[in-house]
Amino acid sequence: MNFKVAVIPGDGIGPEVVEQTVNVLNCVGDKFNHTFEYEYLIAGGCAIDEKGVPLPEETLEACKKADAVLLGAVGGPKWDDPNAKVRPEQALLGLRGGMNLYCNLRPALLYAPLKEASPLKDSIIGDGIDICVVRELTGGIYFGERGREEIDGVPGAYDTERYNVNEVRRIAKIAFETAMKRDKKLTSVDKANILETSRLWRGVIEEVAKDYPEVTVNHMYVDNASMQLVRDPKQFDVIVTSNMFGDILSDEASMITGSIGMLPSASLGEGKLGMYEPIHGSAPDIAGKGIANPLATILSAAMMLRYSFNLETEAKVIEGAVLKVLEEGYRTGDIMSEGMKLVGTNEIGRLVLEKIE
Ligand code: NAD
Repeated sequence: MNFKVAVIPGDGIGPEVVEQTVNVLNCVGDKFNHTFEYEYLIAGGCAIDEKGVPLPEETLEACKKADAVLLGAVGGPKWDDPNAKVRPEQALLGLRGGMNLYCNLRPALLYAPLKEASPLKDSIIGDGIDICVVRELTGGIYFGERGREEIDGVPGAYDTERYNVNEVRRIAKIAFETAMKRDKKLTSVDKANILETSRLWRGVIEEVAKDYPEVTVNHMYVDNASMQLVRDPKQFDVIVTSNMFGDILSDEASMITGSIGMLPSASLGEGKLGMYEPIHGSAPDIAGKGIANPLATILSAAMMLRYSFNLETEAKVIEGAVLKVLEEGYRTGDIMSEGMKLVGTNEIGRLVLEKIE
């Protein structure tokens, strides 16, 4: 099959990690008889330098026409002035909004060979952690009305959380579909003892659950969920939650795996088009040194194969290859520990290719 991939390397280590990932996609293509066609586009700081805007119109248009988007990272100290009118991060919001990507999938997977990277005790981690957080991305309090006004005679401010049933239903469906591809267990996180939007959320989850009788559903208040994530993370398979709760819980879930250079993400919308990127930033402190960990981006490409192209076997081959490289003791600096073999960006990329072949 033939797939069109829009590639946005971005800034800092973005181009380095994306290069390794494109090599991996090509290798999978050769092995399974697929062709990936790449269109390289600019966004972020490099686009500000070249075009004066973080997200040139032609970049967004090309992304919309592609089958999937692969993004490295954007940003860096050069463009960090908080008073600047244009900032690299605006590209991310523009891409998500422009492609209507309302769902953020963030797997937090702690590979057994990287156990020592987790801040949690061995007794809690067991043989690893494997959670997928499904976060609503284009609604809720981050998008509701906000402002400043006098409250009780003194200066005040307000933000508004709003959801409609369609917004909850569509994210719920993705969460249930995700659970069906995993261990068929879904935890919906809300604050239904207090918030009306959470009660609406819970009702819709219950309604959608009827279409997925094989999935076990439980509801959890967000305060409890944040405790349970560190107390007993192994109880979770898929977590679905609103924009703000998801923002916080997905970072907490990433943290317990201890390795930012390993974690991929997907932003999805109505159709098959999705945007795939590592959760880390452009790491300007190590850019150009050949030591960045490309595995988060390579694992993002595996998600691309799974969610946009429906190529589950191929996705698993990439994930298996990454695991093998780790099991054999190869590490980039960010995940290095005693007794392991330190390698750079290109070398770890090459090792992944070797395992795939
Ligand atoms: P960061 O994720 O770039 O880096 C945090 C730390 O982790 C650094 O020490 C870095 O060297 C290390 N690190 C990150 N990814 C790594 C990798 N793949 N391999 C090895 N080490 C890695 O976060 P930051 O320093 O807060 O932000 C740097 C820039 O990136 C900022 O301009 C920020 O706005 C931007 N940013 C972009 C995105 C994105 O594009 N999605 C996300 C977060 C931050």
